[in-house]
Amino acid sequence: MIRHAHALPQYTIGHAVRLALLDDAERACPGLFFTGDAYRGLGVPDCIAAATRRAGEIAAYVLQKRDGDGVNAKFLRAS
Ligand SMILES: Cc1cc2nc3c(=O)[nH]c(=O)nc-3n(C[C@H](O)[C@H](O)[C@H](O)COP(=O)(O)OP(=O)(O)OC[C@H]3O[C@@H](n4cnc5c(N)ncnc54)[C@H](O)[C@@H]3O)c2cc1C
Repeated sequence: MIRHAHALPQYTIGHAVRLALLDDAERACPGLFFTGDAYRGLGVPDCIAAATRRAGEIAAYVLQKRDGDGVNAKFLRAS
């Protein structure tokens, strides 16, 4: 086995539990959204994919706050 000391850092043991706690915090505090390399993948493609998903969820949340459960929010959640 070769360790690449200067490779991308790895999440430490317990990361899945920490993620579950953060998911709980988001559910408990509507409007709170976490994203970034600290959570679910730290390579640029993972960060972009996660941020794109989050942006859609945030937009749906904002629209839902604005117009109840109207057409715009349903459309964004589906896309
Ligand atoms: C040296 C290095 C080389 C890397 N090489 C690669 C590679 O080759 N390939 C690859 O896939 N990944 C690579 N990565 C990993 C990848 O670049 C990062 O994991 C990814 O860019 C993180 O994206 P992010 O949006 O989560 O955070 P960031 O890109 O760090 O963005 C966070 C942004 O938030 C801003 N910010 C912070 N605090 C505040 C605040 N309080 N208010 C307002 N703004 C704030 C910061 O200024 C920053 O612009 C590398 C990382 C490093 C450090």
